[in-house]
Amino acid sequence: MLIVMKPDATQADIDRVIGIIEKLGFRGHTMPGENRTAIGITGNKGAVDPTHFENLPGVADAIRVTKPYKLISNDLRPEKSSIKVGNAFIGDGSLAMIAGPCAVESEEQVFKVAEIVAASGAKFFRGGAFKPRTSPYAFQGKGEDGLKILAQVRDQFGLNIVTEAMDERGVDLVVKYGDCIQIGARNMQNFSLLKYVGQTRKPVLLKRGLSATLDELLLAAEYIMSEGNYDVILCERGIRTFADHARNTLDISIVPAIRRVSHLPVIIDPSHASGHNYMVEPLARAGVAVGADGLIIEVHPCPEEALCDGAQALTPEQYSDLIVGVKSLHSTITKTTTTQPELQTA
Ligand code: PEP
Ligand code: MN
Repeated sequence: MLIVMKPDATQADIDRVIGIIEKLGFRGHTMPGENRTAIGITGNKGAVDPTHFENLPGVADAIRVTKPYKLISNDLRPEKSSIKVGNAFIGDGSLAMIAGPCAVESEEQVFKVAEIVAASGAKFFRGGAFKPRTSPYAFQGKGEDGLKILAQVRDQFGLNIVTEAMDERGVDLVVKYGDCIQIGARNMQNFSLLKYVGQTRKPVLLKRGLSATLDELLLAAEYIMSEGNYDVILCERGIRTFADHARNTLDISIVPAIRRVSHLPVIIDPSHASGHNYMVEPLARAGVAVGADGLIIEVHPCPEEALCDGAQALTPEQYSDLIVGVKSLHSTITKTTTTQPELQTA
């Protein structure tokens, strides 16, 4: 059930609706929008009787939801969500750039990259302190010491920190030191972890699972939102296919597919999608062209020495070149989609 409030509904009208939802034993999720507020109901097993709400002051409509998801849906919020991460936004119409190394290795390595990332005008810095590695013998990340280095980056460069948590203890630490909790592809369907991050009030970057469908990704976001954390950013990072020329296959079609049903912002990760340094820039451009709200890119001062994902890391110079290209492409696209050029006739 979705309750759509009238544009002139008062806070008291909204509180009355929430009160009734709670009395019925369910949970109400208030989503303020540009023109009206909508309230999503979760926790109900069967259909909710619309007559509880239809005639209340301030209520425009009580609509049955037939889709498997409720809170991610643009029925609930017709306009796109803009998510505040630290002191900047993702989904506000600008191209959000999140860049940094795959893993935090040392203060020196991280600071070298942070300098370039800050100078490029990016507002977000990435770097893993907890690394989900295929082999238990591979570098697992520096843990809390790595997070402390990332916190120094925020203090020194004013960059907002996006970093992965793999379990509940990691979430507590990322909440303490970071600005955005990354849930990695391998944990996209770790439902107890999703519920746990849903109980925090930090934004979440939710990466698509290695073989997750659109609905599975959206329902993973729904898990987080159903706990009351509505600040979710989706990330396409490539999926497994038969193709073996790249580490994964970048599924750019998911961007318009998400847009069609959801108000959540979506970003592209061309680094993990390709696994190859030479593919990162063209795929980044593809992501921008298809309308992504941002990019997350791996950069290393010396990729051949990286402890993790060196083959896909850009050098600082390559990253600077990529930024110039994607920024100009983004401004061209925004101009052409916001103005209606007159057709040239012969
Ligand atoms: C990462 O961003 O470093 C990472 C491990 O990504 P993914 O979960 O998409 O593999
Ligand atoms: Mn990586």
